[in-house]
Amino acid sequence: MAERLFFSVPLSRISQLELIRLQAQLSSDLGGHGRVVPAANFHLTLAFLGNVTQQQKTQLLARWAEMTVPEVSLELNRLAYWPRAGVVCATTNRTPMALADLAHALRRDAAEHGFHQSHAPFRPHITLFRGVGGLKEELPEIKPVPMTVQEVDLMVSVMGPKGVEYHSVKRWGR
Ligand code: ATP
Ligand code: MG
Repeated sequence: MAERLFFSVPLSRISQLELIRLQAQLSSDLGGHGRVVPAANFHLTLAFLGNVTQQQKTQLLARWAEMTVPEVSLELNRLAYWPRAGVVCATTNRTPMALADLAHALRRDAAEHGFHQSHAPFRPHITLFRGVGGLKEELPEIKPVPMTVQEVDLMVSVMGPKGVEYHSVKRWGR
């Protein structure tokens, strides 16, 4: 049975709390558009693979037995509304180069092994609201939310009773 996998960076409890506060502040701006993403689902995607069989997963983990998690911090210093995806997210205008390098290496590996090919450039973001349609208002400026990269997860995405859930399959640290 294939699993839906992706690589991502988890958020510390402190960053999660700040983002929950931001969601609460934004709810009125969004005027009921969209659904709040639960904090348990906050993550920063590095590379999306899509469906991966057990055998492919074993090989993937063997290729990534070693991973150097970059020692970087980001400032989530702006909000973005991406109408095609229907999401509002916290993002940054300053992507640490070492994080982009890792994302590109993971995406290249995925493409070379027949998984998802990412055409869109790597834009670090945390999705805060989904299912947001037809937002007209400008999003407000925000107080930057600091985020330190400590770990990288290989995540499996599953449909649970309350919607999508992500679980860590393997975690790399420093
Ligand atoms: P749902 O699809 O149920 O609304 P979701 O998008 O959070 O929820 P997944 O589709 O399993 O869940 O995606 C897991 C992660 O991979 C998310 O961060 C998502 O943005 C990213 N992702 C999913 N599909 C793609 C894709 N085609 N290209 C790039 N990233 C993707
Ligand atoms: Mg999706």
